Amino acid sequence: MKFARFLENGVISYGVVEGEEIIKINGSIFEAYQLTDQRISLNQVELLAPVIPGKLVAIGLNYKKHAEEMGKSLPEEPMMFLVSPTAVVGPKETIQLVNPEHRNDHEAELAIVIGKRASEVAIDEALEYVFGYTICNDVSDRVLQKRDGQFTRAKSFSTYKPLGPVIATDIDPDRSPIQLRVNGEVRQDSNTNDMIFSASEIVSIVSQVMTLEPGDVIITGTPSGVSPLLEGDVVEVEIDGIGVLSNKVTNKTI
Ligand code: MG
Repeated sequence: MKFARFLENGVISYGVVEGEEIIKINGSIFEAYQLTDQRISLNQVELLAPVIPGKLVAIGLNYKKHAEEMGKSLPEEPMMFLVSPTAVVGPKETIQLVNPEHRNDHEAELAIVIGKRASEVAIDEALEYVFGYTICNDVSDRVLQKRDGQFTRAKSFSTYKPLGPVIATDIDPDRSPIQLRVNGEVRQDSNTNDMIFSASEIVSIVSQVMTLEPGDVIITGTPSGVSPLLEGDVVEVEIDGIGVLSNKVTNKTI
């Protein structure tokens, strides 16, 4: 199934996407919910980020070739950090570059959406705590990333974490083609089977550190091919079975 969060006539709702329509639901997707008989055409709504996470956990250097292109050795355990959830925006919202004179890279990533409270879960049970999967573009200010030596500031500016377009529950997180295009040109083209740590390993390992709550999101690292975003670009991230996350880029004006 595919779940979307959307705005229609000023009201935010969740729904199940079927073809070109959304079936509105009552209740929380993370608890009990009912399908209603309201069907709305997708082109009559604005899709929002499918979840506003309580915690946004990021995994760095999780694809071999990306670690190489960043000049880093392969991690022996997942490189884990937190990003502010206020950086999240939805599909079609504009990425606003705060420091356009810096190199600001795109990073196509599979995002794991947690469905149930998870603390110290085993690897072979970890996916039972996952609600589904969406797409994130982990926009990163490389100058600040290098200068700070940690990643919070470089990755937490408002609009630097586009998320969406939907949460898909039926994809295989360890075997999904992932591609990123800038103005139609392919820049990142890989498969999640190249991840060093699998989705289940990541959920288990993060849950050994912090209790994960429903709606929390873990972004799982990016393949090679990161490149700078510039004002006027349109950046699209596609994962088979989830869809296309598309955002324009502009320089932030005061
Ligand atoms: Mg990243």
